[in-house]
Amino acid sequence: NNNIVAIVGRPNVGKSTLYNRLIGERQAIIDDISGVTRDRQYGTSFWNGKTFTVVDTGGFVKNSEDVFESAIRSQVNIAIEEARVIVFMVDVTTGITDLDEEVAGMLRRSDKPVYLAVNKVDNHNRLIEANEFWSLGFENTFFLSSITGSGSGELLDAVVEHI
Ligand code: GDP
Ligand code: MG
Repeated sequence: NNNIVAIVGRPNVGKSTLYNRLIGERQAIIDDISGVTRDRQYGTSFWNGKTFTVVDTGGFVKNSEDVFESAIRSQVNIAIEEARVIVFMVDVTTGITDLDEEVAGMLRRSDKPVYLAVNKVDNHNRLIEANEFWSLGFENTFFLSSITGSGSGELLDAVVEHI
């Protein structure tokens, strides 16, 4: 339970894309029927000689906005409890949303190390736009493109320092 890196954030920001990049074929098979667990996927990853478990959240609960929001809140609370490090992913193409602000507040109140991953930074213009996310107040803010992988190495270098 000690080397868990949890990826949290709103739907569609790119959590599963990063997760799949980190996990490849090493998907853990979780045989558990609880709804919250069903909404989490665990896999093993390696970086800089460290082995750790990555958790992807929010994959399967797809109902109303209300269900989304409470599901995201519970995923964030579980991450705060179980993870060693939390990657909070946001999306440069939507900018900062109310739900991003809410999650940011929950994470700031926790004492877990949090890495803000501003995703979909595919080009230079988006890198300029991405600077607005510094206002969420996370000292550890990284800009990446999970699709191309650019910037993900720098994020992982920092994250596995905690492993
Ligand atoms: P999740 O709901 O947070 O797990 O998001 P997904 O990983 O399912 O991605 C949502 C959508 O964003 C998909 O169409 C992805 O292909 C796309 N996406 C993910 N990462 C990037 C990225 O770095 N750049 C761009 N342009 N699209 C991305
Ligand atoms: Mg997903």
